[in-house]
Amino acid sequence: MNREEKLLQNFQDVQNSLATACKKAGRNRQEITLLAVTKYAPDTDVLFLLQQGLLKHIGESRVQQALKRWTSPQFASFNVVKHLIGHLQQNKAAKAAQFFDFIDSLDNFETAEILDKHTPAGKKLRVLVQVKLTQRETQSGLSLQEARKLVKQIRGLENLQACGYMAIAPQGATENELRALFAPLKKAFDEDFPKEQERYLSLGMSEDFMVAVEEGSTLPRIGSKLFT
Ligand SMILES: *Cc1c(COP(=O)(O)O)cnc(C)c1O
Repeated sequence: MNREEKLLQNFQDVQNSLATACKKAGRNRQEITLLAVTKYAPDTDVLFLLQQGLLKHIGESRVQQALKRWTSPQFASFNVVKHLIGHLQQNKAAKAAQFFDFIDSLDNFETAEILDKHTPAGKKLRVLVQVKLTQRETQSGLSLQEARKLVKQIRGLENLQACGYMAIAPQGATENELRALFAPLKKAFDEDFPKEQERYLSLGMSEDFMVAVEEGSTLPRIGSKLFT
């Protein structure tokens, strides 16, 4: 199998797994948007999938790296929705507000205010608030209670649109542990983001996205499974 065949195979495998998880949970596949995490992928791999029309939403974890890639002539002509999924430093927030469509990792109001101030006229910058699922120091994000408070605060900002929550599950968690961590967040999501509006619950990565989709994720973030 050459590299292009391998990438197509990976993509199909992910689609099949998403379909299986939806079927198992009685969910509609249309509710789920695949967020392709391109941060570690080489340009050639990303360009190939773009040319096939397979990438609609992409995630990058670093502002500089994302700008360098997606503003280059080869990439700039593709119309994809760009998400920042990594921690956002305040000194990068102005650039991020101009460049990204979504900030999926927002975790403080000060940064939200900087984003609001620098969002270009006529644009609504969509944001997800990052929730910390465990107390481990390495996890970023807010407790669920703090996150819900931040959503309310963001709703007072003119140029931002709060549209959901994002969380990263701890590595090595069992399926039952994952379900127990995801369920309270899904409940809060349904309460805070009514079904009529544009809303995203971003749970699940390559190792746990099937469980995450069964538990209600609408925006699984998949990197290594696509680009392995
Ligand atoms: C890198 C990254 C991913 C993708 O992880 P894979 O295990 O490669 O699918 C998802 N979410 C976040 C926040 C990441 O930083």
